[in-house]
Amino acid sequence: MNKITIAIDGHSSCGKSTMAKDLAKEIGYVYIDTGAMYRAVTLYCLQNGLFRDGNVDTDELRKHMGNISITFQLNPDTGKPDTYLNGTCVEDRIRTLEVSAKVSHVAALDFVREAMVDLQRLMGEAKGVIMDGRDIGTVVFPNAELKIFVTASDEIRARRRYDELTAKGEKCNLEDIVANIRERDRIDSTRAVSPLRKADDAIVLDNSYMTIAEQKAWLLSQFERVTKE
Ligand code: C5P
Repeated sequence: MNKITIAIDGHSSCGKSTMAKDLAKEIGYVYIDTGAMYRAVTLYCLQNGLFRDGNVDTDELRKHMGNISITFQLNPDTGKPDTYLNGTCVEDRIRTLEVSAKVSHVAALDFVREAMVDLQRLMGEAKGVIMDGRDIGTVVFPNAELKIFVTASDEIRARRRYDELTAKGEKCNLEDIVANIRERDRIDSTRAVSPLRKADDAIVLDNSYMTIAEQKAWLLSQFERVTKE
């Protein structure tokens, strides 16, 4: 059977990556978390003092883009890909609230998006890929055979993120997380370059009241429908 491209876009913290990773494992596809790539660029900016008074110094970052290498490596313990920034595993460091608070500003920069989209297209060139993000079905792979747009209520998304962060031992409060995901959605949906929007041919999934197992089964049924057509 010919392999296809699966694009999963949607709002912040609505479980896109969990369902995408699970499906990739089940069907033997490569999973690529494009949010992790923007997070890694943001971490690089933090590590290299490229934020001035809370704003990224775009001229400086432009000069640094050639020094930023982002790769993924399968973690044999978790069975999931970890994100590497210039050869160092940054999987945990890119998930902190500090990075979450800044990533949408970095992701709105045209030259950052151009570099990441080029890399994403290269990674997905051979098909057999599940990519999650904000602009996969609209910009990165507009011809993807299966496009899903995921959403859920703000409060439910924040609660899931809170549980995830506290389970990792990070101190956080629910109000900050609600504010962060609303702000990221606002910036992501209103930016000039590749704003977050549903592709016309994407199927909407509101997973507010679905378990992870139900989402997994639903996504698998969508994959089977498309590949049997
Ligand atoms: O998916 P995740 O929440 O980790 O993404 C972090 C941020 O990266 C998003 O809020 C968005 O600003 C940016 N992003 C993007 N385009 C993508 C993936 C993520 O702009 N394809």
